[in-house]
Amino acid sequence: MLPTPTSVPPQLRDSHGRALRDLRISITDRCNYRCVYCRDGEEGTSYSELSNEEYLRLITLFIPLGITKVRLTGGEPLLRHGLVDLVAEIATLRTLFGEAPDIAITTNGHLLESLAAPLKNAGLRRATISMDAVDAPNFEAITRVPRSFERVLAGIRAAKAAGLEPVKINCVLLRGFNDNQIEGFARFAQQENVIVRFIEFMPLEEGRFWSRDLVIPIDELVGRLSRVAPLVELPPNEAGETAIRFGFKDGPGEIGIIAPVSRAFCGACSRLRLTSDGKIRTCLFSQVEHDLYGRMRAGLNDEALRSYIIRVAQQKEQRHHIGEPGFLKPSRSMVHIGG
Ligand code: SAM
Repeated sequence: MLPTPTSVPPQLRDSHGRALRDLRISITDRCNYRCVYCRDGEEGTSYSELSNEEYLRLITLFIPLGITKVRLTGGEPLLRHGLVDLVAEIATLRTLFGEAPDIAITTNGHLLESLAAPLKNAGLRRATISMDAVDAPNFEAITRVPRSFERVLAGIRAAKAAGLEPVKINCVLLRGFNDNQIEGFARFAQQENVIVRFIEFMPLEEGRFWSRDLVIPIDELVGRLSRVAPLVELPPNEAGETAIRFGFKDGPGEIGIIAPVSRAFCGACSRLRLTSDGKIRTCLFSQVEHDLYGRMRAGLNDEALRSYIIRVAQQKEQRHHIGEPGFLKPSRSMVHIGG
């Protein structure tokens, strides 16, 4: 009989003593946005996607090893046909293993208005929606898709109405590019009663123009936000939380700051990633990928595949080396790795 995640200590432990609980799985590397800080411009013509059955089998391998959170991402995960079915199938892993994983999604929100309620009913618990500007002209200049702002706003409101809470809005900030949106986002967080999380720009873009000067340090950001409305620092929701949290002294809304560059949190990282072509990445910045899908296709049984996953997890890098001499960007960009 398979062990359940609650009855055994996590087997996925890296050689630095971290328990790995969080699986991020890219279910497509297609995207309907071409955000200027992420994509080169032209849409590619070849994509790597597995079938729902194959993603489900891969996820099923991880759950008894102590994975408790599954985040679907991409590319743009809402582009996948059969997404609602896939979520429903992940949710039914409860019957196999006693406990269903906490299922979340990271999406650009463009297609969320009509999908929020069906996804919630299928078992999705939370949604994180990416949004890098709070006004239509700036937003559409970033996504390069007309009327995208109104679609995403409708998606955010639908996610709230469907109970995919807390709804988190992720904004990647680049100096001289969209930092004029900081104050608007503070007001947006209050007005829409959502969590706005500012994320430091990392060297994962297709265009290879990252530089430290583009990153806005956390103290500067907090100073600017505080001038809009006084902030109070909030305790972390859980050990190892990546965001530094702030509430507003008076009123709803929340701000999170995720600072992988200026305040790296690798020591608390509990993540493994699975690319849309079924390769395990132990870090966003890994130089190697581990071909789990290839082994599955070659006919390895579940026990052998789980032993492989355990061995790969042990190899998780201690930390990233962004900005240090000799730092190497990963060979694949964020849209292919899965953010
Ligand atoms: N399409 C979905 C979305 O927009 O949320 C999921 C995939 S997207 C790659 C996931 C997240 O990665 C988005 O919030 C995006 O802004 C973020 N991202 C992309 N490139 C990044 C970079 N170089 N540094 C930091 N975050 C980045």
